[in-house]
Amino acid sequence: MPDPSAQSPGFPRLLGSYGGDTAGPLVIGIGGMHGNEPAGVFALQQVLHSLHTRCPSFRGRLLALTGNRAALTRGCRYIDEDFNRLWVPERLEGTGGRCAEPTSEEQERRELLAVIEMALARRQGPAVFLDLHTTSAEGQPFVVIGDSLPNRRFAFDLQAPVILGLEEQLEGTLLNYLSEQGHVVIGFEGGQHASPSAVENHIAAIWSVLTTAGCLRSQDAPEKTPPEQPGFPVLEIRYHHLLQAGDDFVMEPGFTNFQPVRRGQLLARDRHGQIRAQESGQILMPLYQGQGADGFFLVRTVQRFWLRLAVWLRRLRLERLLPLLPGVRRHPDQAATLIVEPRIARWFVMEIFHLLGFRKKRHRAGKLLVSRRWHEPRVFKNGEPNP
Ligand SMILES: [Zn+2]
Repeated sequence: MPDPSAQSPGFPRLLGSYGGDTAGPLVIGIGGMHGNEPAGVFALQQVLHSLHTRCPSFRGRLLALTGNRAALTRGCRYIDEDFNRLWVPERLEGTGGRCAEPTSEEQERRELLAVIEMALARRQGPAVFLDLHTTSAEGQPFVVIGDSLPNRRFAFDLQAPVILGLEEQLEGTLLNYLSEQGHVVIGFEGGQHASPSAVENHIAAIWSVLTTAGCLRSQDAPEKTPPEQPGFPVLEIRYHHLLQAGDDFVMEPGFTNFQPVRRGQLLARDRHGQIRAQESGQILMPLYQGQGADGFFLVRTVQRFWLRLAVWLRRLRLERLLPLLPGVRRHPDQAATLIVEPRIARWFVMEIFHLLGFRKKRHRAGKLLVSRRWHEPRVFKNGEPNP
């Protein structure tokens, strides 16, 4: 198995850092989790160059890292396996006992995790992660978050559509792993892989996150996303078309991110025949590249009323009452997890769990487990980073 570090002289793990002299947030930007998505890496390099040239005062520290170095060097999504699907507990806990030689991505994961943990151990404030990606389809940028109030605050400042509920569909993403450690984690999809605007969009997102975190004053980040462009929707995932090996999946040509589709519309084909939209909505991340197991997603706008209601309910901490409902009880070992009887979940709408921040669903031993994110309330109280 190739040694990723030996293979990737062009993409060092540490792209650079800035700040660190005063206490404050640790912002970790990661580009190139997928090797065919270098736009985030280039954007991090440009922001670091600007910071070192202008030398603005800075609270905390920015650390810029690369993801899949070997795949970045080859310009492919991954070498042996998807680097953004292997951050699962079994892999993270059981590294010593594996018989097989580690894959290229497993070696990268160990190296990246070691760098992240070292930085977290030295931080002097809360940690904020910005995970920079691009898509194979054309379309405007968007933000992916686990639905916590601090994540929302950062996401809304990015002035782009916000996608909720992806963590319910995808296992083993870096975003999920870091969210479960209690950090603010923002996934940003900057546009199509090769589009020149993707780098610019990433640059604006990095400046924006640095100001929202309180590292930089707004006037020191002129390239950040301009504020006051209301009207960006929040959308939730309604359907995920997961591919199996040998499906021979081919997307119908011409779909772009957020393109409206009708129920029954032909979207793709595989060896079983035609694949049509399960419901009306908007298509997201239609697959137009060779590698990857996600055919497409369907999303639907969440009304602002429900988002505001959710903030209010969570500030009242009404989630504490959920175990009083019939068929719902606390998990004995996991503070952020509820065990739900499936017959209850069938009629007891998931929207109530969603409103209160419980989204991550798993099925274990005939029961449904829903979990919520926990963050660092002392510093990011109610989604408001301390200035
Ligand atoms: Zn990606």
